[in-house]
Amino acid sequence: MKHVTHWINGAPHTESEPQAPRDRVGAALSALRERAVDLIDPERTGEIYDPATGELAGTVDFASVRIVDEAVAAARDAFAEWGRTSLTRRTQILFAFRELLNARKAELAALITEEHGKVLSDAMGEVTRGLEVVEFACGIPHLLKGGYSSRVSTGVDVYSLRQPLGVVGIISPFNFPAMVPMWFFPIAIAVGNTVVVKPSEKDPSPAVFIAELWKEAGLPDGVFNVVHGDKVAVDALLTHPDVKSISFVGSTAIARHVYETGTANGKRVQALGGAKNHMVVLPDADLDLAADAAVNAGFGSAGERCMAISVLVAVGDIADPLVERIVERMGSLRTGDGRRACDMGPLVTQAHLDKVTGYIEAGVAEGAEIVVDGRDPLVDGAPEGFWVGPTLFDRVTPQMSVYTDEIFGPVLSVVRVETYEQALSLVNEHPYGNGTAIFTNDGGAARRFQDEVEVGMVGINVPIPVPMAYYSFGGWKDSLFGDTHAHGTQGVHFFTRGKVVTSRWLDPSHGGINLGFPTHG
Ligand code: NAD
Repeated sequence: MKHVTHWINGAPHTESEPQAPRDRVGAALSALRERAVDLIDPERTGEIYDPATGELAGTVDFASVRIVDEAVAAARDAFAEWGRTSLTRRTQILFAFRELLNARKAELAALITEEHGKVLSDAMGEVTRGLEVVEFACGIPHLLKGGYSSRVSTGVDVYSLRQPLGVVGIISPFNFPAMVPMWFFPIAIAVGNTVVVKPSEKDPSPAVFIAELWKEAGLPDGVFNVVHGDKVAVDALLTHPDVKSISFVGSTAIARHVYETGTANGKRVQALGGAKNHMVVLPDADLDLAADAAVNAGFGSAGERCMAISVLVAVGDIADPLVERIVERMGSLRTGDGRRACDMGPLVTQAHLDKVTGYIEAGVAEGAEIVVDGRDPLVDGAPEGFWVGPTLFDRVTPQMSVYTDEIFGPVLSVVRVETYEQALSLVNEHPYGNGTAIFTNDGGAARRFQDEVEVGMVGINVPIPVPMAYYSFGGWKDSLFGDTHAHGTQGVHFFTRGKVVTSRWLDPSHGGINLGFPTHG
C-alpha cells in the first residue's frame, strides 16, 4: 500500500517537530493549544483506489490549513529569489525539466493509469499534450518581450514590462492529473512565479512525480509545491493573503465557488468548469468519418474528458445510417484494464460509477431509446473494477437529464433535428460552452457555424478540438468563470502583471517648473 504526502520546499512533507516548552505551565498551554487546533483543523487522509481492480491501493494525506500555510510560506520565501532569477537561468531549468519529462514519460503514464484507470496509450497522450505546454514555456524570453517607444517626447522613452505575480495556486481535477496542472505551471514558473498545486485527491501521485522531476532539473526548493486534500485545502488557498492568483479546473459548481471566493479575496482567478459537448453532423457529411469521430470522442478515456463528445446532433435524414455505423464500431471496442491494451478503461471510483449508472437508468426511465446498454459489460479485467461499457441512447430530447447534465462517462446521446438552425439553437441554448464540432463537406456551412456558435473551442471535421499549447484553451458560458483562458499568450498574460515605464534621461532643455498635465512635444 502506498502513502502519498505533500511536497513542500523541495521535499516530501514531514510533520515539523513541536518546540519543547520551557516549563510546566508552558507545556500544559501548548498541549491545550494543539488539542484545540486539532479539533478545528485535524490531520486527515483519503483513500486511493486502483479503478481496474477496485482495490484500495493506498492513502493520501489531506492538508489542513496549517499545512497549506507552510506550503504558501515556502513558495513566498522562494519567490524572493526566483522572481529575480535571470531569464537565461530560468529557461535552462525549463529545458532540463522538458528533457527529464520526455525521458520518463512512460513512468508518468503508468502512474496515471494506475490511479485514474485510463488506458496506457491515452495516458501517454495526456503527458505528450502537457509536454507541449512545457515546450511553449521554453520560449518564454520571446514571450516576455515588452514594447519600447523611443523619443515619445524630447529625451523621453516609454517601455512596457511584464512581471510575475508571486505565489500562484493551481487546483486540478481527477481526469487529467498531469496535463491539466501542466496547462498552467510551466508558464507560471517560466515567468518567475512560485507555485502551490492542489491536485485531485483521487489520483494524487502524478503531481508528486512531477515535483521530483523539477527538483532533478535544478528548480530551487519552494518554487514548486504540492498539497493534497479536499475543500479544506482549496478554501485555504482561496483565502490566503499571500496567494495572488488561482487557476482552477473542475466541475461547474466548484468552479463558480472558486471564482466567487477567490475574487472576493482579491485574487486573479481563471476557473474552468464542466461541459456538454455537441457534435453536429450535417446531411452532406462523410458518415464513416463522423461515426469514427463520435466513437473516439464519446468513449475515449471512458468519456471522462471535458472535451468528450456527449451529444450527437443528427441533422436531416442521416440519423439511421449514422447510428447504424456507430453501433457497428462500438461492437469492436474492448473495455478492460488499461494495462492490457484495451480501448477503454474503468471509471475513476465506485461513486462515479454509481453516478453514471444512475444517469443511464434515468435515460431509460425518461423514454430515451437505449441502443447499446453499457451496464454490466463484458470486461478484460477484475470483476470488482469500476466498469461501465460504452452506452448509446437515441431519440434523446432536450428535457431529459442525459441531455441537460454532464454525465462524464461513456454515454453518447443522439438528438435528431430537421435543420441546421435547430442544431445551432440546441448548442447555443445549452448552459455549457466548452467545445463543439461540426461534420460537413460544405465549407460555407462550417464557416457559418464557427461564426454563430456560442462555444469557446470549435472543431470542423475534428472531434476533440483541444488547441495547441501556443493557442489558449477555454470555454464560454458555464464552462469558464473569469476572462482568461489557459496557456498560449493568455496564459502568459494571466501569470504576469503589466507595467509601463516612462523615462527621461537628463536633458537641460526640459528643465523648469510646469504644473500642467504632461503632454508630449
Ligand atoms: P471536481 O470539481 O469535483 O474537483 C476539482 C477540484 O476541486 C479537485 O481538486 C477537488 O479536490 C476540488 N474540490 C472538490 N470539491 C470541492 C469543494 N466542495 N470545495 C472546494 N474544492 C473542491 O471535479 P472532478 O470530478 O475532479 O473533475 C471532473 C470535472 O472537471 C468535470 O466537470 C469536467 O468537465 C471538469 N473539467 C473541465 C475541464 C475544462 O477545461 N473546462 C478540464 C478537465 C475537467
